[in-house]
Amino acid sequence: MPEKFKAIVIDRDAEKKQFVKVTELSEADLIESDVTVKINATTVNYKDGLAITGKAPVVRRFPLVPGIDFSGTVVTSAHPDWKAGDKVVLNGWGTGETHHGAYAGVSRVKGEWLVPLPAGMSAHEAMAVGTAGYTAMLAVMALERYGISPARGPVVVTGAAGGVGSVAISVLSKLGYHVIASTGRAAEADYLMGLGAAEIIAREELSGPAKALAKERWAGGVDVVSSHTLANVLSMTSYGGAVAACGLAQGMDLPSSVAPFILRGVSLLGIDSVMAPRELRLEAWRRIGSDLDAKKLAALTTTISFDDIMDAARDIVEGKIRGRVVVDM
Ligand code: NDP
Repeated sequence: MPEKFKAIVIDRDAEKKQFVKVTELSEADLIESDVTVKINATTVNYKDGLAITGKAPVVRRFPLVPGIDFSGTVVTSAHPDWKAGDKVVLNGWGTGETHHGAYAGVSRVKGEWLVPLPAGMSAHEAMAVGTAGYTAMLAVMALERYGISPARGPVVVTGAAGGVGSVAISVLSKLGYHVIASTGRAAEADYLMGLGAAEIIAREELSGPAKALAKERWAGGVDVVSSHTLANVLSMTSYGGAVAACGLAQGMDLPSSVAPFILRGVSLLGIDSVMAPRELRLEAWRRIGSDLDAKKLAALTTTISFDDIMDAARDIVEGKIRGRVVVDM
């Protein structure tokens, strides 16, 4: 364990204006808890971008180290499930929101928040998946629980070239779905086809005000965008279909009508990764091991260093990041 380690810290000034600094912390600065983890890899998620830029009130305690997920090695543990040397993954549970997160290289957390690093997966690969990929898998599992299958018809993925979207396309195509990818970046068409998209549609087709009901185009979908886009996705979902909603890239609102629900029996499935129960997490990580092609994961991943985190945080909220970004610690 290094005596001092470099950390990104978000704090507020006397006027309660948020600022971000790179500083040095020591073990004494970490929260009281039962497992200390040396972080091998982390990532920059959309929520990390919101936290660092201050565009949304993600951080709820100051000063705070952001970074909502990591993969690392247990250094010390007073928790019965973990011992020094164990390889672990953490997603959410308020990490990087209400207690210190990943961008310090060392974290102290509750043992019950950790899951084992999936067999055969490196720390780098686990963070290429990261919270975005694990959320994409939660969304796919929700569609399956609802009874959506490739035989029911195409599925749409919005925000396709982003992190959740890229992983969702990769998984859904491997499972045999005809995937329609909605993107604002036409230049990424080859990338999205490479991940397994069968069709590409322009973001603009879905981003304006929605009709109550429109022509049925898909059996379901994974939506990361919300607002008018989710309203359009719902209005175009065929009878008895379902849409898993996990994001808010266009907005927090949902200007829809009940028509898809009461006239077509469409369901809206809510996805939350932060407080998802442990059993669901373990299942999602198991499914990532079996249903996410390693070559596709590599194709959708860019690796950066600790010093690049701030730039990546700004880029992700501006929709400039393609796929997933891994921070090699
Ligand atoms: P990314 O920034 O990687 O991807 C978001 C994508 O949305 C962009 O790449 C872009 O795709 C599209 N997009 C961006 N802005 C707009 C806009 N104004 N209108 C329409 N489309 C837009 O983020 P992630 O994939 O990591 O996360 C996506 C969303 O999911 C975020 O809102 C995030 O907070 C949420 N999320 C929720 C979780 C949960 O637990 N519920 C967990 C993880 C993420 P393109 O360029 O292809 O159009």
